[in-house]
Amino acid sequence: ATPISLIVGVGKAAEFGILIRKGEALERASKLTTIVLDKTGTVTAGKPAVTDIIGDDQQAIIRLAAALEQGSEHPLAAAIVAKSGDISLPPCDQFEAISGHGVSGRVDGHAILLGNTALMAKYNVTVDAANSAQITALSAEAKTPVLLARDGILIGMIAIADPIKSDSKAAIAQMQELGLEVVMLTGDNRQTAEAVAAQVGITHIFADVMPADKDGKVAELQAAGAIVAMVGDGINDAPALSRADVGFAIGAGTDVAIESADITLIRSSLDGVVIAIAISKATLRNIK
Ligand code: ADP
Ligand code: MG
Repeated sequence: ATPISLIVGVGKAAEFGILIRKGEALERASKLTTIVLDKTGTVTAGKPAVTDIIGDDQQAIIRLAAALEQGSEHPLAAAIVAKSGDISLPPCDQFEAISGHGVSGRVDGHAILLGNTALMAKYNVTVDAANSAQITALSAEAKTPVLLARDGILIGMIAIADPIKSDSKAAIAQMQELGLEVVMLTGDNRQTAEAVAAQVGITHIFADVMPADKDGKVAELQAAGAIVAMVGDGINDAPALSRADVGFAIGAGTDVAIESADITLIRSSLDGVVIAIAISKATLRNIK
C-alpha cells in the first residue's frame, strides 16, 4: 500500500467526522467480515430514562433506589437519580458497585440491593412467578428492568428505556448489504437485548456479558476466522476495542473508549462505520 493513498483516505474520512489514528486501521477496515456493536450508547442514544416504577409504594422505591445510585457512575444510575427529582435522598452506607450486576448498600438501616436478576440470584432474593412475568413483559418492550430488594425481599422494580438512535437501523442495514455479519454485544439481559436487536434487524446477539468478558467475545469471533470491528462507547468496551482488528469509538463516549480505539466517530452515529468502510475500499482500490 502506498502511504499517499492512505493519507488521502484518512483526510477524506475526516471530512465526515471520522478520525483515524493510523493509516493501517483504514487499510484493515477494507477486510472486515464482522461488526460487533455495543448496545447502550452505541446502537441506542445512551440517554436512558425511567419509564415505569412498579410496586406498592412508588415514592419509597425511587427514593431508596436513587439513594444507592448517587454513588454509581452507571448510565442507569443517572436515569434513576434524575427520576427522584425533588425527593431528598437519605445517605447510603457501605455502598458497593457490583460489576455487571448492580449496586448494594445500607439506607435507613436496611440492606438494599438494586440491579438485575443475576444480582438477586447472587443474594438469594426470591423472584416469584408474577415478578418474572413482569420482567419478561418490560424486557419485551426493550426496557431494562432494575429490581429493588430490601433486607432480602424484592419490593419493587424500575423500568428504564434508552431510545434507539434515529440512524442506527439504516446504518446496520447498509453494513449487512455490504455482506458484513452484524453482532450485538451487551451486558444487559437477553430479552431486552433481543427486543432492541429486533428493532434494528440484528439476529446475532451476545447478551448478559460481564464487562471483563466483552473482549473475549471479540477474540472468539477472531478465532473462528472473522476480521472484526468493535464499535463502543463505554469504559467496559475498552478492552474489546483494543482487541478488535479495527476499534471504533463513539465520539460522545468515554475517554477510555476513545483512547482504546483506532477510529473515533465524532458524529456518534453508526453511519460513520459504513462511510469509513466505503472510503477504505475505495482507497485500497486506488492502491491496487
Ligand atoms: P451494560 O452497560 O452493557 O448494560 P453492564 O455490565 O454495565 O453492561 O451492566 C450489566 C447489567 O447490570 C445492566 O444492564 C443492569 O441490569 C445491571 N447494572 C449494572 N450496574 C447497575 C447500576 N448501577 N444500577 C442498576 N443496574 C445496574
Ligand atoms: Mg455502551
